[in-house]
Amino acid sequence: MREVRYFNGNATARIGRIEVTTLLDGWLSLDGGAMYGVVPKTLWEQQLPADARNRVRMAMRPLLVRTPGHTLVIESGIGQAIAPELHDRYGIDRAGPTLDELVRALGVDPASVDTVACTHLHWDHAGGLCRLENGAYRPTFPDATYVAQKGEWEIATRPTNLHKASYAPDSLLPLAERGRLRLVEGDAEIVPGVRFEFTNGHTENHAVIWLEDQGQSGCFLGDLVPTASHVPLAWISAYDINAGGSWRAREALYPKLVQRNARVFFYHEPEYPVGRVTKDHNRYRAILDT
Ligand SMILES: [Zn+2]
Repeated sequence: MREVRYFNGNATARIGRIEVTTLLDGWLSLDGGAMYGVVPKTLWEQQLPADARNRVRMAMRPLLVRTPGHTLVIESGIGQAIAPELHDRYGIDRAGPTLDELVRALGVDPASVDTVACTHLHWDHAGGLCRLENGAYRPTFPDATYVAQKGEWEIATRPTNLHKASYAPDSLLPLAERGRLRLVEGDAEIVPGVRFEFTNGHTENHAVIWLEDQGQSGCFLGDLVPTASHVPLAWISAYDINAGGSWRAREALYPKLVQRNARVFFYHEPEYPVGRVTKDHNRYRAILDT
């Protein structure tokens, strides 16, 4: 039996008793040079082709995670956080379903989602935590607990000029106003079998999310490693607030991914978002399940 199954573009994988399904919120096109930092176009365009405006097209793939005791969503897509006038600038291409509708389309009752967690709160990851109802943002899963890093929340909801373009605070604040927020600091359990590992790098308070059960491991890499092509150590996005921090976090994380033979999930991967990280000839690379 194949380890990763694809159905309607969604991938499903198992980690022990944990079932993980990738969802598709939509598409985003960002400047290819910015996505690959110091890597020259002669190299990166072999991995992801640039469009006529030098942009690379990437997916947003939140996860639906079912553990023996909990139903979680990890990351939330852009949702309705970005004004339609800005969609052309960022190449945002969304068909429209909100995150709860994506969950329902898989035959899962959105009311059963009890926990939502994000690696960081940039609008392409956290924009769908709330959705618009009669012109006002409301938590997309009204009864769920939303788990985030405390430092990330503080920056996201009071962004300075340095951070302003990356966060959509109006789409986040209702989580606190409605008492749905749980803030943690650093490495922390989200629910049994699901935990944050703090990394820094892409944002000051970015954390990847491990999924662990019965001796098997998975890791959702957030924007520490946005696509499979970003696995090589130097392939760090210029959007990262601390590129040195990203490098060090990857150097610390990759040996664990290899040693545990962890299944990895790439949020922005355009086609096949599930794979593993391997090391050969002293270089790390991704092998995708296709
Ligand atoms: Zn992102």
